[in-house]
Amino acid sequence: MGEVRVRIAPSPTGYLHVGTARTALFNWLFARKEGGKFLLRIEDTDRERSKPEFERDIIDGLRWLGLDWDEPIVYQSQRLDLYRQEAQRLLEMGKAYPCFCPPEELERRRQEMLAKGVAPKYDRRCRRLSPEERERLMKEGRPFVLRFAMPLEGEISFHDIIRGEIRFANRELDDFIVVKSDGFPTLQLRLRRGRPCDGHHPCHSGRRPHLQHAPPIAPLRCLRLRAAAVRSPAVVAWT
Ligand SMILES: [Zn+2]
Repeated sequence: MGEVRVRIAPSPTGYLHVGTARTALFNWLFARKEGGKFLLRIEDTDRERSKPEFERDIIDGLRWLGLDWDEPIVYQSQRLDLYRQEAQRLLEMGKAYPCFCPPEELERRRQEMLAKGVAPKYDRRCRRLSPEERERLMKEGRPFVLRFAMPLEGEISFHDIIRGEIRFANRELDDFIVVKSDGFPTLQLRLRRGRPCDGHHPCHSGRRPHLQHAPPIAPLRCLRLRAAAVRSPAVVAWT
């Protein structure tokens, strides 16, 4: 195993959360014990909700806890080109597709599913569009998001150093959005990008593995970005 590098990546869309502080503490302790590195990355790509005062609060809060980081703070917004290239790769591989459904329409369908008592999920309508239809809608200038084409069969599994083998059936997972209509990558794409596991040691997030941890692993494996190093949801969630 390479050098231990663990990271905390809070979004400056709110004040320092106690859960973030807890995870930061565990990861910092782990890095110090192993003689590795503890890194801080600011997930500032939500342009509407990110605020400098929240960033200040997070940094001050972590310092107040006595935590320090070993490399300059990385600002996610400065890495957008990388994410765009990755999204393009997914698109070219047929692992992502444009979805033209307007947000109001998606919300209406979501409410319908809730009323029927089923877990709301995107109905994959745009995944079934023909290349001609896609081109026509693009030419019309319709706004779109990029969705990850989740495999319809099989399962995804990973080893969590605390909870052991975790498995999710792919069919339970959504075709989540990887790039928003304003061209910004979503957390799902960003989490798994950014030198995903450059020697990152499996660490734990201090939380129960959750469905939300599984989807980012799927595109990671598509892109074969050191997929073998994915051992924990935390590696995905916090690198
Ligand atoms: Zn759609």
